[in-house]
Amino acid sequence: MSAPDPSTSPYDAVVIGGGPAGLQAALTLGRMHRRVLLLDSGEYRNARAEHLQNFVTRDGTPPAEFRAAARAELTAYSTVTVREAAATAVVPDGDGFRVELGAEPGADGPESLATRTVLLATGLRDTLPAIPGLDGLFGTVAAVCPYCHGHELSGKHVAVLGNGPHVARVAFLLERIASRLTVLADGGDLEPGIRAQLDDAGVAVRPEPVKELNRSATGATVSFAEGPSAEVGGVFVASEFAQRAPFAAQLGLRMQESGAVEVDPMGRTSVPGVFAAGDMAHTSATPMPLASVLVAAASGLLAATTADGELLARAHPAP
Ligand SMILES: Cc1cc2nc3c(=O)[nH]c(=O)nc-3n(C[C@H](O)[C@H](O)[C@H](O)COP(=O)(O)OP(=O)(O)OC[C@H]3O[C@@H](n4cnc5c(N)ncnc54)[C@H](O)[C@@H]3O)c2cc1C
Repeated sequence: MSAPDPSTSPYDAVVIGGGPAGLQAALTLGRMHRRVLLLDSGEYRNARAEHLQNFVTRDGTPPAEFRAAARAELTAYSTVTVREAAATAVVPDGDGFRVELGAEPGADGPESLATRTVLLATGLRDTLPAIPGLDGLFGTVAAVCPYCHGHELSGKHVAVLGNGPHVARVAFLLERIASRLTVLADGGDLEPGIRAQLDDAGVAVRPEPVKELNRSATGATVSFAEGPSAEVGGVFVASEFAQRAPFAAQLGLRMQESGAVEVDPMGRTSVPGVFAAGDMAHTSATPMPLASVLVAAASGLLAATTADGELLARAHPAP
């Protein structure tokens, strides 16, 4: 039998995203012999991190190695196709969807693929505070999550950049790990209650605007608009995040206040047939995505299981 034509014969699922959420979703669907296409545009949230931490059996693995291992596992499932291609649009079409792909090098033109369900796992894009030098340190010396990158700074002087209420929480998460903690308030006013909490805990505060950060032999040198510079082993920052892909907006998916897609505990979005997993989505139980590789993979499994169950229900409606 020749392979079905994907422009007319629909996939069971198109998974958009080749990070941990999409890779796990494709594995789950492949194991159920669903015809699935995984699209990966190669833009991963942890692309600049040297190691992936806090994932049992994978602690310390380079993220690219993790993805390569997952891709290798998918080759065992003949109904799974992986393409390094960017989707440009997802459009409802009858009781399914069409996924549009931009023209790839060497292709005749843009492609349009039919699918019965769509599983979005397109992740988030981070924007960092506009401090010279910070962007170049992101993923190595500068990090967002103490659970992922705190332990590696054991016994070092650690900085927490920012002046919002979150700085105290981040500093306190690190107080058993760092030898010394300094909040870099960057010219902003810390709320007096927060300042008092930091003072009580022995966390230093540098109120001056941060001029720049430069990589040093032991971490980074922080220069201020005035006063002496500081040598730190690492710096924690709060990024602003946004959807990496336009599909939530295109499909009119219901959103959370955080800017993530609203899903139910099984990965269903507000549009039937569209599922979402990973950092781009979360339930109403949390104020923001629980950004971690293990959680992303787990939510990919859940959403894929739900998509598979709904395909099953369509094939075998309740008597
Ligand atoms: C600097 C940094 C370090 C981190 N370190 C850790 C750590 O040590 N441990 C940990 O557990 N977590 C860590 N995290 C968090 C972790 O990276 C995320 O939770 C995880 O990557 C989320 O997985 P995801 O599959 O949802 O998204 P991503 O991994 O971001 O993958 C998104 C996928 O969608 C694809 N995509 C997007 N748009 C399109 C499109 N239009 N067409 C086709 N494909 C598309 C991308 O190419 C990519 O394949 C870190 C995050 C950052 C920022």
